[in-house]
Amino acid sequence: MPNIEKAGTTQKRKVIDAHMHINFGRPQSKELAEKIGVDYSPEGLLREMDENNIVRGLAMTSPIMPEGGKKFIEEHRDRFWCAGAVDPTNLTDERLEELEADMAAGRICAVKLYIGYQHYYPADDDCVPIYELLMKHDMPVIFHTGDCVSTMARLKFSHPLTVDDLAFRFPDLKIVMAHMGNPWLWDAAEVIYKNENVYADLSGLITGLSEGYWEEYRKGLLERLESAIYYCGADHLMFGTDYCLASHADSIEFFSKLKIKESDMENFFWKTALTLYGGESPLT
Ligand SMILES: [Zn+2]
Repeated sequence: MPNIEKAGTTQKRKVIDAHMHINFGRPQSKELAEKIGVDYSPEGLLREMDENNIVRGLAMTSPIMPEGGKKFIEEHRDRFWCAGAVDPTNLTDERLEELEADMAAGRICAVKLYIGYQHYYPADDDCVPIYELLMKHDMPVIFHTGDCVSTMARLKFSHPLTVDDLAFRFPDLKIVMAHMGNPWLWDAAEVIYKNENVYADLSGLITGLSEGYWEEYRKGLLERLESAIYYCGADHLMFGTDYCLASHADSIEFFSKLKIKESDMENFFWKTALTLYGGESPLT
C-alpha cells in the first residue's frame, strides 16, 4: 500500500506524476476515462491529485495538439510542469525561438519527441538544434519509447536501443525514455545502466481497463520490472501514470508492490522527477 505509517497516523506517500496528458476536450481520452471510472475534468483531476498526495504533475504537449491543456496548466503553475513538443522534421527558426523563449521563461521544463509516431531516430541531425537548446537550459529531452498506439507508427524508431546512439553522442544531454521502452524493458535497462545521462518513466505500462489477460499481464509486468530494476538500479526511474490511461490510486497501488528498498521508492515516486524537472521549483 502507498501509505507510510508515522507515529500512529497514516500519511500518504508524496508523489510526482512524471507523465500526464491534460486534454480534457479530447473525445478518445474522455471515452477511456469513463470506462475506468476517472473524472477527466479540471475539477476531477485536481481532486484526484489531492486525494493521492500528487504534489506535481508533468503535463505533456504534442506537436499535433500544442495548445491542449496549456491554459489549465498556466492557471495551476504550482501543481504542474509542462513538457513542450516540437516536430524536428519540420523545424523552423521561428519555432526554435519560441521554444527557447518558453524554456527561458520557465513555461516548459523539457521537450517531448514522438520518434515512433513521426518516423525519425533520436540521433538524427534534424534534432540537434533542439538538443543544443536543452543542454543550454539544462533540461531533458523525453522520447516516447516502445509500443505505439497507432498502426501508422514504426517501432524501429521507438525501440529503446535507438537512444544509446544519442546518449553516446551527447553525454551532457539528459534523456528520458517514456514508458521505459515497454515491452523492451531489459533493453531499456541496459541503455540506462550503460549511460549515466539516461532515465526512464514507467508511465503507460498499465491501464485501468480490466479485459483479456490483464491480471496475468500485471503480475508478469511486476516480475519483469523487478528483474530489470535489479539490473540497472532504481535511481534513474520515475513514477508516471500517462493520465488518463490509469488512475493515480490504481497506479500508486500497483507500483508500491515493487520489491525495492524504501530509499529507492522515494527516488522513484518523487525525488528523481524533482531533480530532473523541478529546477529551482521547491515543493510546498
Ligand atoms: Zn503519454
